[in-house]
Amino acid sequence: MAACRLCLPRFVAANTFMTSPELHPVVAIIGAGPAGLMAADVLSMQGFSVVVYDGMPSGGRKFLLAGRGGLNLTHSEPLDAFSRRYSGFDDTVPQWLDAMSPQALRTWADELGAATFVGTSGRVFPHEMKAAPLLRGWLARLRARGVEFRMRHRWQGFDANGGLCFLNAGDALTVKPRACLLALGGGSWSRLGSDGAWVDVLMAKGVEIAPLAPANCGFDVAWSAPFVEKWAGQPLKNIALSTASDGEFRAGECMLTATGIEGGGVYAWSGSLVKTCASQGQAKLFIDLLPDWSREKVLAALSVSRGARSWSSFLQSRLRLTGAKWGVLRECVTPEVMSSPIALTNAIKALPIALLRPRPMDEAISTSGGVMRQALDENLMLRAMPGMFCAGEMLDWDAPTGGYLLTAVMASGVVAGHGMARYLAS
Ligand SMILES: Cc1cc2nc3c(=O)[nH]c(=O)nc-3n(C[C@H](O)[C@H](O)[C@H](O)COP(=O)(O)OP(=O)(O)OC[C@H]3O[C@@H](n4cnc5c(N)ncnc54)[C@H](O)[C@@H]3O)c2cc1C
Repeated sequence: MAACRLCLPRFVAANTFMTSPELHPVVAIIGAGPAGLMAADVLSMQGFSVVVYDGMPSGGRKFLLAGRGGLNLTHSEPLDAFSRRYSGFDDTVPQWLDAMSPQALRTWADELGAATFVGTSGRVFPHEMKAAPLLRGWLARLRARGVEFRMRHRWQGFDANGGLCFLNAGDALTVKPRACLLALGGGSWSRLGSDGAWVDVLMAKGVEIAPLAPANCGFDVAWSAPFVEKWAGQPLKNIALSTASDGEFRAGECMLTATGIEGGGVYAWSGSLVKTCASQGQAKLFIDLLPDWSREKVLAALSVSRGARSWSSFLQSRLRLTGAKWGVLRECVTPEVMSSPIALTNAIKALPIALLRPRPMDEAISTSGGVMRQALDENLMLRAMPGMFCAGEMLDWDAPTGGYLLTAVMASGVVAGHGMARYLAS
């Protein structure tokens, strides 16, 4: 029996391949995150015998972590606006929403006892603002339908016959299902189970893969030591952000950190900022510190004599520009800019922050890159490997935070689940 690519020495040494028939399920799903579980939902509902494998002691760990922030499941905006949030994958991600729309996702959560509500931002959350009750109900329903879970089964790759090789507590085993779904996640928060190790395995099989990169991530900024001491950990609220001083500014919030800047307002632009850092060595983020004030109004307020007042008390009294907003303005402009009303107005309405690099991928909310559209058919089956499907964050698409990630992850699980059912039926 041939051994897996990635674990040859261990497999040869262990020499403990197990090939008994009961280990060969009809359907194997590797990855018990939301994509894999959603495919298991679809297939088990149609009566298929499904075994879910995961390398961790329990599944859905990143889903549970997302629950710490309230579990932003989806967004309530109209479907055409919702669809425009996705990039990559040859712009075909919105087609998955035909299989599971944001509204269908809400209904699905409701059926599992986790009714949702629309927050003031339009984002959709379960009333309990956490993932654990939803995940518990979901796993219980899957088990009741006969889905089996094999945890602590780390997938290593393929043997020479296309069998799936796992390591379980030091024991090697190989299984050969009739169809398999890889739902292995991206490459961030590796301690929760998704580490992108699958990239090399699939590339060796000729699968086209775009390199994984941080998405929805923070950036490093060379703040001065006094700035870090005073302002690290402080939020910037009621601001707008852009990647160009004269470009579209989007309302948001962010957090000043010891190493730079992070938070939803930054994540919204992180896709293009990561690319600019890669191509130009650094990038600029522009912050409108007073989005509710027109440029003219700011200029008029600054065009009076400061007199003996300090800059901070002048800006506080004239513009109500205080706290971390004042701190970051002071950090990023020169004394010459401060003393010119026009230049200071420009800085307040589009403060340039020099971003050195994205924070490491492991810290990112999600990763871009992954299995490319052309490597898969419309059922998300690998063209190079019939019977082998992929779903979730491991595909080469991207979206901002706001519930768009989980919606597409789960919708892709539905698409793959139906695709596998059709494949098995044929
Ligand atoms: C802090 C944080 C907060 C987030 N909040 C939100 C939010 O509020 N809303 C939102 O839409 N999105 C959010 N996300 C993103 C969302 O959680 C992910 O996009 C989603 O979990 C990806 O689902 P997935 O099933 O594709 O992969 P994952 O959830 O990563 O699951 C993949 C599974 O595969 C297993 N696995 C990987 N490799 C192997 C292997 N070789 N062998 C066996 N098993 C393996 C892993 O153990 C894991 O269980 C958040 C992410 C983070 C990090």
